[in-house]
Amino acid sequence: MKITIIYDNTAAVEELTADWGFACLIEFGGKNILFDTGARGDILLGNMEKLKNSPENIDLIFISHAHWDHTGGLSDILKINNPKLYIPKGYDPPEAAKNVIKVTGSVRIAENIYSTGVLENIEQSLIVKTAEGPMIIAGCSHPGVGNILKAASQFGKCFALLGGFHGFDDYKLLEELTVVCPTHCTQHIDEIKEKYPKKYIEGGAGKVIEL
Ligand SMILES: [Zn+2]
Ligand SMILES: [Zn+2]
Repeated sequence: MKITIIYDNTAAVEELTADWGFACLIEFGGKNILFDTGARGDILLGNMEKLKNSPENIDLIFISHAHWDHTGGLSDILKINNPKLYIPKGYDPPEAAKNVIKVTGSVRIAENIYSTGVLENIEQSLIVKTAEGPMIIAGCSHPGVGNILKAASQFGKCFALLGGFHGFDDYKLLEELTVVCPTHCTQHIDEIKEKYPKKYIEGGAGKVIEL
């Protein structure tokens, strides 16, 4: 599987624009999944162009939660491509969206790709079942990293977690994982890096992670 961070608070590649928000492209099993859309469509599309990721190639869009820094680029993407859109129940997508799936409980999205379901009434995380075990992609982890890990464990022993961890500081919960990429809104990136230097992967727009 290949993950490209398109939109992030920092930039891992100099030519890309850093801005508060999150989006990444997941290429797995022949599917291209856009996870969240950042805060601004112009930055999202600009970074995609520099990364040579064409919006036309997106097979489905997954929105983790209804906050502006994850949904802001959605209407601009929909002007170019209008694929299946998985959103948490309670979020009203832009009118242009044609193929909307409102998620409540855990659902299968494609082969070996699932949603945890909306946790704590706010956010869903994406699960990709790789050969090494499930990987979790999280937007801001508002339900709490502990709750997300617990929900994800129904898919097997998780090996990787990437995304925004917000104020998460219960570091021992990360012990079981092999790969941890805390980025976007994560407040304690330095502590996580210090505790788990071998698991830690630095995020930022332009970062490509192949697992
Ligand atoms: Zn949020
Ligand atoms: Zn956020």
